[in-house]
Amino acid sequence: MLDDTLKTQLASYLERLREPVQLIASLDEREASAEMRELIEEIAALHPMVQARFDGNDARKPSFQITRAGSDMGVRFAAIPMGHEFTSLVLALLQAGGHPPKLEAEVIEQIQSLEGDFAFETYMSLTCHNCPDVVQALNLMAVLNPRIRHVAIDGGLFEAEVTERKIMAVPTIYLNGQPFGSGRMEIGEILAKIDTGAAARDAAKLAKKDVFDVLIVGGGPAGAAAAVYAARKGIKTGIVAERFGGQTLDTLGIENYISVLETQGPKFAAALEAHARHYDVDIMNGQRVEKLEPSLQPGGTTTLTLANGAQLKGKTVILSTGARWRNVNVPGEAEYRNKGVAYCPHCDGPLFKGKKVAVIGGGNSGVEAAIDRRAWSTTSR
Ligand SMILES: Cc1cc2nc3c(=O)[nH]c(=O)nc-3n(C[C@H](O)[C@H](O)[C@H](O)COP(=O)(O)OP(=O)(O)OC[C@H]3O[C@@H](n4cnc5c(N)ncnc54)[C@H](O)[C@@H]3O)c2cc1C
Repeated sequence: MLDDTLKTQLASYLERLREPVQLIASLDEREASAEMRELIEEIAALHPMVQARFDGNDARKPSFQITRAGSDMGVRFAAIPMGHEFTSLVLALLQAGGHPPKLEAEVIEQIQSLEGDFAFETYMSLTCHNCPDVVQALNLMAVLNPRIRHVAIDGGLFEAEVTERKIMAVPTIYLNGQPFGSGRMEIGEILAKIDTGAAARDAAKLAKKDVFDVLIVGGGPAGAAAAVYAARKGIKTGIVAERFGGQTLDTLGIENYISVLETQGPKFAAALEAHARHYDVDIMNGQRVEKLEPSLQPGGTTTLTLANGAQLKGKTVILSTGARWRNVNVPGEAEYRNKGVAYCPHCDGPLFKGKKVAVIGGGNSGVEAAIDRRAWSTTSR
């Protein structure tokens, strides 16, 4: 399963393990089970702190749990995590083995103190570039809190489930057997949905902020650039954004950012954030602005009201709220979103294999989508 280069890379990552890790597989007679066994044996052979077991009895087969020896961590792959998910596998191994996650202490504490039992299931495909973020976020949450369980399911391996649950877009997330969300999500967004007290706590914290000299709504490249320019003048600058990074988070390859030959959307978004934070920009992420009231007095302040009820004030407010998917507004579009109406051919394409697909839009992305999946019988208009 692993070629020599991957084995060498993985072996060097595994040097970071601090505690023994177990991979416990639940297998059946399928060919995929034999592949999973091979992968697990290869990983275990790379480091003495990784132990392979094949006596798991999970209902989903093939699948394997990753856990710290002596614990029962809820990290599971019902998938052979190669392709885009290989990084998720490496991170899960390291985090289960005690390697510290790159996450603010405050967020770690928030995850660890979550009350309740959370069983997450993420349906993904190995070609989806938005899926690893969700898989990695939920795996990390499961490493940090034993009451959180997460299984990443390759839809291609569990077609009956995908059909039964009518899943037509990845990633699609279930929580405790009910639909929870779909599309790329970060830990902050997941926490905002399950930590019921979080909105009130955020609102209380935000309400204490002083007036900003420059307050920017939107954390895409435009908002981040405005913030860096303002903050470099030494003035008090804040960004309030529903999703810091904006559209770049949904982008894989970026090849036209001058001076950077090639980068990837999430990496680019992380660099935007680091740049803004370097100049002490106050980034208030995961916050939606619902109302803007400009001052009627010259030199007065503009008030922004957020979805959680908190108010922020700025002497100057810059709106850089960017763009969203454009809908065609045909009947059924909203109802069938992610149930047949998809926005990412690269991610969701495998779920439509062998089906008739109509591509709406004839720009470069539309044409690319139409020719990308030769396995489809495609009608383009
Ligand atoms: C799949 C894809 C691939 C792309 N590839 C490339 C590429 O290769 N090269 C290239 O140059 N461009 C590419 N683009 C386009 C590029 O990403 C956008 O042009 C760029 O992100 C626009 O930046 P922006 O800051 O104006 O807005 P956006 O990135 O859209 O950001 C908007 C920000 O505003 C926030 N926001 C909106 N409403 C509110 C509200 N009410 N309250 C709080 N916050 C709010 C959002 O959460 C977000 O943070 C791509 C886009 C997509 C979707």
